[in-house]
Amino acid sequence: MTQRLREELVTTAKRMSDLGLTPGMSGNVSVRTPRGLLVTPSGMPYADLAPDDCVEIGLDGQVRPGQRTPSSEWQLHRDILGSRSDVQAIVHTHSLFCTTVSTLRRPIPALHYMVVLAGGDDIPCADYATFGSAELASNAVVALRGGLACLLANHGMVALGSSLPAALKLAAEVETLASQYWHAAQLGTPHILDHAELDKVRARFASYGQTKRRATDRR
Ligand code: 13P
Ligand code: ZN
Repeated sequence: MTQRLREELVTTAKRMSDLGLTPGMSGNVSVRTPRGLLVTPSGMPYADLAPDDCVEIGLDGQVRPGQRTPSSEWQLHRDILGSRSDVQAIVHTHSLFCTTVSTLRRPIPALHYMVVLAGGDDIPCADYATFGSAELASNAVVALRGGLACLLANHGMVALGSSLPAALKLAAEVETLASQYWHAAQLGTPHILDHAELDKVRARFASYGQTKRRATDRR
């Protein structure tokens, strides 16, 4: 099972890089395992990644010897997975527009209804702390407040999911929202959707797409 997760982790990390979400060697990815988590290694080019380069870490922070040095953000991944039983995978990027907005240390507001995909009425921004620090991990857990994505001040963003593809998909959606926010801000001040309207959006999403068809198929 862990071998399959290693392969999926590498596939997701390469896809994240190919999508242009991680300049250079920035960003990292993790997935929950029966013993803790698997995380990408620190400072390796995504094109060179192989399944054995991924590092398994216990939720207690123990790294089995003989493995590569784990991502400098392993505590960020460990603390989120340790505090969120609903989350199976995490993607951290320095994608352009999320990072741009993060330098303003403000959330991405609900300028588009797709913001609800991140679980709240906006996408919050975690307080600044040095990369790779326990403080950054703790700031991210606080900012997420049970949601599925947040910005990291002057750094980038984090997206969570019930699977690696789900976390990556959300990271791309949040980058699109940040891009829309940046573009709108060039023209003026965007109108922001209020909580009541976002509740209507959440209700509509509950039956959006092929949901009904899938329910029928199961009968
Ligand atoms: P790692 O290469 O150690 O994962 O670091 C990249 C990064 O984004 C740090 O915040
Ligand atoms: Zn980073």
